[in-house]
Amino acid sequence: MSPVAWLPSPAEVEAHVAVMLARDSLNLGESSAQDRMMLMLTRSCELRCSYCFVGLTEDGRGVDHSGRADPVTQQEVPGQPVGDMSGSTLQAAVDWLMRSERDRLGIQFFGGEPTRRSKYVRAAMRYALDHPKRRGRPLEFLLTSNGLSLSPARLAPYVGLPLTLQFSLDGDARQSRFRRPLAASPEAAWRATEAAIDALQASGLSWFMNATLPPAAAGEVEQRYHWARSRGLPMLQLNYATGMAWSPEQERAYLTGLTAVLDHHRAHPDGLRLLNWANGADPAPLCGDMIVDVDGSVYQVGALFHERRSPSLKRSYRIGHLSDLGARFTGRRWSLAALAERTREALTGPAREVFFANVALGAAVDLVVERAREQGLPT
Ligand code: SF4
Repeated sequence: MSPVAWLPSPAEVEAHVAVMLARDSLNLGESSAQDRMMLMLTRSCELRCSYCFVGLTEDGRGVDHSGRADPVTQQEVPGQPVGDMSGSTLQAAVDWLMRSERDRLGIQFFGGEPTRRSKYVRAAMRYALDHPKRRGRPLEFLLTSNGLSLSPARLAPYVGLPLTLQFSLDGDARQSRFRRPLAASPEAAWRATEAAIDALQASGLSWFMNATLPPAAAGEVEQRYHWARSRGLPMLQLNYATGMAWSPEQERAYLTGLTAVLDHHRAHPDGLRLLNWANGADPAPLCGDMIVDVDGSVYQVGALFHERRSPSLKRSYRIGHLSDLGARFTGRRWSLAALAERTREALTGPAREVFFANVALGAAVDLVVERAREQGLPT
């Protein structure tokens, strides 16, 4: 039984939302030393997680998109381009990032399942590392993966690169019930997941479990954490799912579970690094990152995170196309306050309510972490 948690009041949450919008993204705002870019390599994925609102499709898998701004993106309610990101679009995206004026750089490979384009991922890493405009600046790669195709042979080429692998993983076979395989059986998908964990553990690569809890799993925060510990995983990040309506009881259960996890980890920091200790994250639906789509269109990342749930956001979150963005990278993203304003204009009714309720939950999470940090950090 978890102890009664401190939970912020609605007034405290509302005030903190205003603070978060005013200060902008701590990772990517004006005071940050880093510029970062996400790459949507493909819309193909072996899974169809129930909390995922990216517009996934197996149409056009393995076919390079031309890299010209896709006409579907110009529709009143923009559609999604079909095909995978080509090598030349990848190069153009890296060229654009290298125009950054900041001291540190980051690239996140995303999808769909980006390892379905492994050849391109490795080529893009080499291209970025050797880029003349990098000028020796630290460059970090983040590779998001569902893990199903990771094997020792597939991981070997990444060893020694400045890479962290973000493994979307929701705990044991039962806790992973929200991750539905598209073609394989759930049992086969789980066997592949277990094999990927073993391969990653043996690889020496930096990696973490990225667990996303939908409202139906609000009470399972502690289970995810204890499973990660029992499995000997090196790092864990716990997240709440966005694009979904959370009842007050579910929000309370999530925040209470998170508090219990932070308390437990403060007393038992050994073994597992809990990434949730770092507060000051963007309130999840309003994320500060920019993402390049398969056709070279550039958006604030929420456009693709919420593509199926709120397609009208794409028009408001569009920044441009690689071919017409010009030389400047730094400062092209929308601030969180500007994004919130654009969202208010783009969404109506329940979609808007859910979006901003999710933002408020992000602010509540930030306050819970802040409060836990005041009680002491793990030593
Ligand atoms: S593994 Fe990732 S991209 Fe694939 S369905 Fe799940 S959340 Fe979406």
